[in-house]
Amino acid sequence: MNQHTKLILGLLLGGAAGLALHDTNLAFINSFNVYVLNPIGQIFLRMIFMVVVPLIFSALVLGVNELGQARGLGKVAGKTIFFTFVTSAASVLIGITLVNLFKPGAGLTIDTDLISQNAGTLSKLKENMLSAKPIQQIIVDLFTKNPVDSAARALDGEIIALMVFALLFAMGISLSTPTGEKNILIDFFEKILAACMKMVEFAMKLAPYAVFALVFNSAYTFGFSIFKSLLFYVFVVVLGLLLQQTIVYSLILKIFSKISPIEFVHKCRDVFLYAFSTASSNATLPKTLEVAEKSLKLPPHISRFVLTIGSTANQNGTALFEGVTVLFLAQVYGIDLSLGQQVTVVLISILAGIGTAGVPGGSLPPMMILLQTVGIPPESIGIILGVDRLLDMCRTTINVSGDLVIAAAVSGSETEKYKVPSDSLS
Ligand code: ASP
Repeated sequence: MNQHTKLILGLLLGGAAGLALHDTNLAFINSFNVYVLNPIGQIFLRMIFMVVVPLIFSALVLGVNELGQARGLGKVAGKTIFFTFVTSAASVLIGITLVNLFKPGAGLTIDTDLISQNAGTLSKLKENMLSAKPIQQIIVDLFTKNPVDSAARALDGEIIALMVFALLFAMGISLSTPTGEKNILIDFFEKILAACMKMVEFAMKLAPYAVFALVFNSAYTFGFSIFKSLLFYVFVVVLGLLLQQTIVYSLILKIFSKISPIEFVHKCRDVFLYAFSTASSNATLPKTLEVAEKSLKLPPHISRFVLTIGSTANQNGTALFEGVTVLFLAQVYGIDLSLGQQVTVVLISILAGIGTAGVPGGSLPPMMILLQTVGIPPESIGIILGVDRLLDMCRTTINVSGDLVIAAAVSGSETEKYKVPSDSLS
């Protein structure tokens, strides 16, 4: 059985078993989940997270250095930023249109149980919100005082500062190397990147079991009942994400990369499975890099640059989710948001998508701030926490898909020869 089939089986069996056993409350299953399955899932995630810092650093240094040497950095960076804004804006607009159309929150009575069940998570999120920084400090903090400290806290929101350091460092390497020579540091980072990818292969061996464990855990913990009252809201988010994939991404692929959207989905299916199961763009990054180079055949210096930055800075699914959720909660509370406030929601959702950490639940802290900004009680987020894991799995898939779409579009628009041949299924 090939790896892909095993992954699908892990996903389906994990989901089915988790849902089927949710209501049984058998001590044996509880213990098996806590002592066996949960650790398997966590170990798998950690085996990937442990390489995220060296992987992101070396991939960015190599990408930027090559782009710098070819004098292509400015153009590629400019196009990446352009596509990030276009795709994020499109996704938020899709979400906001749907939520205004379907009004999933109108007439819904607030289930205070949903809020109190999540009291622990809520109080942590609240603490986070109170320590939120003003905008000028956010910009200053993009430039780290201490890259080692940023590396140590990379998965707690410091990854962007580390990326900025990597970018400047790579420009330093490129500019300090005489034309035609290869800097010894480039060899060094190539070897680090290769070693990281090998390490990820170890984790991939565990993947089908870990996917089973992770999906079982979510399904078993939350079950179906949690969805009943929020079914309409979940439907709106998922429909929005599907529209983003089928309309926005397909158009971009067709116009800029010449790769057919169906072929894209076919070649990227393993990436989607990883993103869905791990709910983390950062944990999916090694697989994303591999597929971009081996299956989509994108030029590595472009894909490394776009994908590493995108794993944190391009999160269209998250932006859509934020927009929908804020308007949904406003409907639940009967708060009528003015046009100006809705525009604020759109803008902050786009920025939140850019500033969200690529880890499970990374979008919840910025969401609390967004709610506060437009005058909705931030603790209302408790209403949706129960379904957040499932939505996180879905939006992460679209986040990662968006990174690959942008990498294909930038590659395609950069030079003719990088246009992906549409007849080469691999
Ligand atoms: N889990 C998402 C990601 O890693 C971020 C989020 O929306 O919470 O892409």
